[in-house]
Amino acid sequence: YVKERGKNNFQLFTSEMHQEFYRKMMIEKQLRTALDNEEFELYYQPIMDLKTNEIVGMESLIRWNNETLGQVTPDEFISIAEETGMIIPIGHWVLNTALEQNTRWKKEGYKSLKVNINVSVRQLLDPTFFEKVKNAIENTALDVTYIVLEITESIAMYGEAMIEKLDALKELGISLSMDDFGTGYSSLSYLNKYPLDSLKIDKSFVIGMNRDDGNKAIVKTIIAIAKELDLKVIAEGVEGQEEYHFLDGIGCDYAQGYYFSRPLPAIDFKEKWLTAGD
Ligand code: C2E
Ligand code: MG
Ligand code: MG
Ligand code: MG
Repeated sequence: YVKERGKNNFQLFTSEMHQEFYRKMMIEKQLRTALDNEEFELYYQPIMDLKTNEIVGMESLIRWNNETLGQVTPDEFISIAEETGMIIPIGHWVLNTALEQNTRWKKEGYKSLKVNINVSVRQLLDPTFFEKVKNAIENTALDVTYIVLEITESIAMYGEAMIEKLDALKELGISLSMDDFGTGYSSLSYLNKYPLDSLKIDKSFVIGMNRDDGNKAIVKTIIAIAKELDLKVIAEGVEGQEEYHFLDGIGCDYAQGYYFSRPLPAIDFKEKWLTAGD
């Protein structure tokens, strides 16, 4: 049908396709050497307690700076890393780097905070994942109760086997949080079967919530469901004071977003957000 759209359209179509394909191929190629070349960095964004207005944790977020491609966002490269399997070694690096960084901060005398680590479903399906987490825990000086793995609703496609994997991880003493809640395919019945500690309301519902009664209603409802199931709730994408006050008023436990801070390199995060303690 492409030809029917005429010669010019055909050329436009193929050149766009070509560009997209080429970029994807370049990302795929560069990803293979990125770990060895130390091109990744972890940024950290604070997670705030809405009741006390204090920091309670952080989310670790990967950044990739490549010589050829420049800065590539996770939204662009994580899915490619998942397709190619590169997410396995990259995810392993993320897990160990986040725990090592927090161990170092603890040794420097800073108060321990929870550290949230994003985990792809592809990593959970890796038969050695449990062993990797167990080893990482054994190598860290952090109390396991400070470790939170963020998973997504895509795990719902893997049924009973996934529940067993998550149960085993929970038995190590770590916490599990459902990320991007409300955007996936998850039926609510699964929510009850997973050994979850918290839900993160997807930022698409939170951003601009004040100008959208529908999104406000969704956020309220998610908080109500979480309360009923005895789960903590974190709102992501809190950009303004209005959203912050609204969330506090309706009983949201925690919040994360540009209103408090952008994700920061470790050195800046330490300077801005860590305090003496423990
Ligand atoms: P996510 O886990 O839902 O992380 C939250 C995303 O929202 C981050 O984007 C963060 O920078 C952004 N964000 C935080 N506050 C605000 C705000 O107030 N407004 C807006 N507009 N955005 C906000 P980022 O860092 O670009 O990461 C995108 C996604 O990439 C993450 O979404 C996560 O799914 C994935 N990702 C990031 N790091 C890792 C990682 O280490 N491993 C894996 N498997 N996935 C990762
Ligand atoms: Mg996350
Ligand atoms: Mg999220
Ligand atoms: Mg997201």
